[in-house]
Amino acid sequence: MPIDATQPYDSGNIFAKILRGEISAKTVYEDDYALAFHDIAPQAPHHVLVIPKGAYVSWDDLSARASDTEIAGFVRAVGHVAREAGLVGEGYRLLANVGQHGGQEVPHLHVHLFGGEPLGPMLS
Ligand code: IMP
Repeated sequence: MPIDATQPYDSGNIFAKILRGEISAKTVYEDDYALAFHDIAPQAPHHVLVIPKGAYVSWDDLSARASDTEIAGFVRAVGHVAREAGLVGEGYRLLANVGQHGGQEVPHLHVHLFGGEPLGPMLS
C-alpha cells in the first residue's frame, strides 16, 4: 500500500529499524550519511537500496530540510555504490518512488539501484 509522503517522518518504519540495527540487512556500504543494502525482493540481478541516515521521507523532504553536507554525502554514496558494484561500464538505473502516485511503500527516502542486465523501457 503506497504511503502518504506528506505525513511527518515515522521512526517506526522498517528502514529506520535497519538504521538502528533492530533489523538485519545485507549491507554493501555505509558511511556517515548513507547506508546501502540489498533489496529483500530483488527485481534485477543487482538491486540495492541506498538510504540517507537522516530522517527524511522523500526526495522533496530531503531537499527542504537536509543540510548541504547531508545531501552531498547521500548523492556521493549512491555514485560510490554504483562504482563499487562494477555497474558503471554497462550502466544502471536509479529510481526513487515517492508517495501514492509513485508507489512508495517504505516512508524513508530510498534510491533503488538496478543493474546487471539490460533493464528495458523505464516504466515496464
Ligand atoms: P518502494 O516501493 O520504493 O517504497 O520500495 C520499497 C522496497 O523496499 C521494496 O523493493 C522492498 O522489496 C524493499 N524492502 C522492504 N523491506 C525490506 C527489508 O527489510 N530489507 C530490504 N529491502 C526491503
